[in-house]
Amino acid sequence: MPQSRISVIVWNEFQHERENPAVRAIYPDGLHATIAAALRETPGLEPGALALEVATATLDQPEHGLSEERLAGCDVLVWWGHKAHDQVSDAVVERVQRRVLEGMGLIVLHSGHFSKIFRRLLGTHCSLKWREADEKERVWVVEPAHPIAAGLGEYFELPYEEMYGERFDVPPPDETVFISWFEGGEVFRSGLCWQRGHGRIFYFRPGHEAYPTYHDANVQRVLANAVRWAAPRVRIADRCPMSPPLEKLSAKEMAFAKVGILQQGGEAR
Ligand code: ZN
Repeated sequence: MPQSRISVIVWNEFQHERENPAVRAIYPDGLHATIAAALRETPGLEPGALALEVATATLDQPEHGLSEERLAGCDVLVWWGHKAHDQVSDAVVERVQRRVLEGMGLIVLHSGHFSKIFRRLLGTHCSLKWREADEKERVWVVEPAHPIAAGLGEYFELPYEEMYGERFDVPPPDETVFISWFEGGEVFRSGLCWQRGHGRIFYFRPGHEAYPTYHDANVQRVLANAVRWAAPRVRIADRCPMSPPLEKLSAKEMAFAKVGILQQGGEAR
């Protein structure tokens, strides 16, 4: 899929920032605006890395800002939600799922572990342990060769974060890039990759709204890397066609024909 830039939409439910002055002080224009600005300003590290074209969308916009047309032009969708997961329409969830299966990348952040779209794509509860107690988080890079870890050290630390602990009820990931340790003793698989259909999915744990996590340079590096990793390689709409043989088939015993193997368009019995 040759193209000159990667088109990104940063989606945010945008509720805490409007209702809670402490959160608004950290993210005056919403955390989607902070993430979008960071993505625009963080260049890719690979030679020839594509530039990002970054837009935002929020829950209160028509169709949550994720119309058929906007999603059709989106390469990677970044998702932050927490208290309003149930307000996301099932039609939009269905639409996002279809685009991921076609090849669109999806990056799910922090409390997005309970979003409808993440649970739909992974098929499990996606539950975990949590505690909000201003703890230090140490994020260990356990796959330093992975593109999402490019430019990071052996670990990085966030002085204040919400704790998420195992077990994280997700299917086994294709790759585990980060594992977090928390001051209270728990650990958590905090950077996980899956492929669903033709699309790449990355879950990244940090990002509780009460802390300035998305202003952190290491976190911004992870997001810039992740968007480029998740960019589509193909775009293939779902279909399930009857397929004529490429080679001429030899005549078979009637017994085979009866079970429908050679009956093009017929029903197998
Ligand atoms: Zn949180």
